[in-house]
Formats: sequence, C-alpha cells, structure tokens
Amino acid sequence: MNQRVFNFSPGPATLPLPVLQEVQQNLLALPGAGASILEISHRSKTFEQIIAQAEANIRQLLNLPDEYHVLFLQGGASLQFSQVPMTFLRGSGRSADYMVTGSWAKRALAEAQREGGVRVIWDGKENNYSRVPKKGEYDVNPDAVYVHFTSNETIQGIQFPAEPETGDVPLVCDASSDFLSRPIDVKRYGLIYAGAQKNVGPAGVTIVIIRNDLLERVPDGLPTMLDYRVHAENHSLYNTPPVFAIYVVMLVTRWLLESIGGLEQMHAINQQKAQMLYDAIDRSEGFYRGHAQPDSRSLMNVTWRLPTEELEAQFVKEAKEAGLHELKGHRSVGGIRASIYNAMPIEGVRTLVEFMEDFRRRHA
Ligand SMILES: *Cc1c(COP(=O)(O)O)cnc(C)c1O
Repeated sequence: MNQRVFNFSPGPATLPLPVLQEVQQNLLALPGAGASILEISHRSKTFEQIIAQAEANIRQLLNLPDEYHVLFLQGGASLQFSQVPMTFLRGSGRSADYMVTGSWAKRALAEAQREGGVRVIWDGKENNYSRVPKKGEYDVNPDAVYVHFTSNETIQGIQFPAEPETGDVPLVCDASSDFLSRPIDVKRYGLIYAGAQKNVGPAGVTIVIIRNDLLERVPDGLPTMLDYRVHAENHSLYNTPPVFAIYVVMLVTRWLLESIGGLEQMHAINQQKAQMLYDAIDRSEGFYRGHAQPDSRSLMNVTWRLPTEELEAQFVKEAKEAGLHELKGHRSVGGIRASIYNAMPIEGVRTLVEFMEDFRRRHA
C-alpha cells in the first residue's frame, strides 16, 4: 500500500481504500460463490443480491421515494446527453430548456439540438464559465418538457450550491461529478444521471434515477436498449449489465453508509476539504488565482492558475515528485485542477496545501 500516491484524477478517480482492499480480497472467490465477481452470471443469486443491495444503498443514501426507479446503464453520461432528448424531446412538438454552465453542459446541449427545439436559458460564456446562474437570472418556459442542468462542471470547477428553481417543469440533472457527495432535494428532480467513475465507482456503469411520471412518457418505437421502461421493468437485467462496476458501486455506497454515516456527513467532510484548498488560494496574495467565483466554487474540482504557464508546469511536475498526482488542469482550460471527490482523504488535501505553501515560498 505504500506505493499508493494521492491521486487527484478527475475520473476515473480515486476509490476508498477499504473498498479496493475488499475487491482484492474477494477477487478470486466471492464468499459463498466459489468464483470471482468477474466470472459469475448476471442471473446468479449472488449477483442478484449485489445489484439489489447497490440499489438499496442508493435509495437509502438519497432517501428516494418509491416513485423513483434506479437504473444501471451503459454508454456513460455521454449517452444520456442523447437518450434524454431522444426520449422526451424528439417529436414532442415542445422544447427543452438548457443551462450552459461549462464544457459538459455544452456537450449535453449539442446532443439535444439534434433531437428537437432547445432554448438556452442561461450561458456563462461572458464570464468564462466561472459561475452558475442565480435565481432570477434565467426564465424557465413553463411549457418546457424539462430543464437540464449540470450540477457540477468537472472541467471549470463550478457547482450549483442548490437546485435551480424550475416550478413544475421536471428537472433533469447531469450529476456525474457530484453524485452522492451531498444531500439533494430529490423530489425536485424528474431524472438524474451520473457516470460512476468520478465519485461512486469504476468506469462502465451509469446510474440513472427516473421518476414514474417521466417513465410513463417514454414513447414507443425507441431501440430496446434506449428505452428506459425496458431497463426499469427488468431491474437493469434486460441484457448483461456491467457486473464488476455494479459490484464496486455496491461496495462504495456501503462504505458511504457504514463508514462515513451518510450524505450529510460526507458533505461536511467535502466542505472541509474544499475549504482547505480555497483558503490556501485566498491567502496566497494573488500567486494562486481561483477560476470559480466564490459563490459557485465546486467542492469536487478545485481549479486555479499560477502567474505563468511555466510555473504551472513546474507546479505539476514538482507535485508529482511529492506524491501528488494528476493535478494538471483540463487541456481546454489549462492551469491546475485538484479533484477531491468523496474518496480523497483529508490527509491528501492537507499534503497538497502544504505543498502549495512551500511552492509559493520558493517561487513567488
Ligand atoms: C465525466 C463527465 C461526463 C462524461 O462522462 P462519460 O461517462 O465519459 O460519458 C459528463 N458529464 C460530467 C459532468 C462529467 O464530469
């Protein structure tokens, strides 16, 4: 274990150590099954229990009412960019409202535009995607089929502090990079989707939470694999699901419940970690310049610049030598990005803050 570095990767991202240890311990034979999770049928009793437990954990963590279904799908959040508008927008004769807060929202918007009428009700372009909209800065069309927003922009490092106000229009959320990082007002949502590989597991599974009234609106004639109803009716076992990824999601959500104590506790820890980094930025006298405006600062992805690109490259290089990996910002925005999802220990953030202070003393 002494070879493990602090891994600030944006995704796939660091996982809780006890989860990895359990995976390792049981990789050759799951207790009672006599075979590996990689080798058993998705129709076996063992796996049925695993997927049911994963769903139960998510339900408990989010306090999910019965009218919501939990689906384990493939194709990433990127397929949801298409599947959502294919299902609800195409042929509806109505339009959908999109909030464009950064790189991922732009991708979602582009796919929706292929399917039907879309209104952009907010675009953060003029402030370089450094903040999310406040109440009153956007007008929801009361006749929109849904309002789409990206709760956390992984690349820019901005996050909605709370759900946008949409009246009776169903809220659709790309929660890929902050799913299960804090409590949410779940009844406000019609549909939530999240690729697992940022905060809740390995790559390969996408969690979709969908409310009954939206499920009932799924039109006939979609490809079977793109029909949410098929997956809901078959409890995500219509075809072979990503068995291993779902197994790890089950372990991560159990860790959240049993070791952390739930989403309120997780949120408090995430706030503490993010605050440590933003404090280091704020007291650096302009040496570190945060990208996000203070009221939109992400608790998951902290982004900042240094005085020059040369210093940024030097920072990333020296950090890596100090055991702090994957701190380079996304190629589209540059700078530094520290992804500090649920599984990043406070110790990792503390070590990064110490490194930041030391680096500044030497280079400011
Ligand atoms: C990573 C990410 C995606 C893309 O996820 P894939 O699973 O690679 O398709 C979409 N939205 C957000 C907010 C992300 O962070």
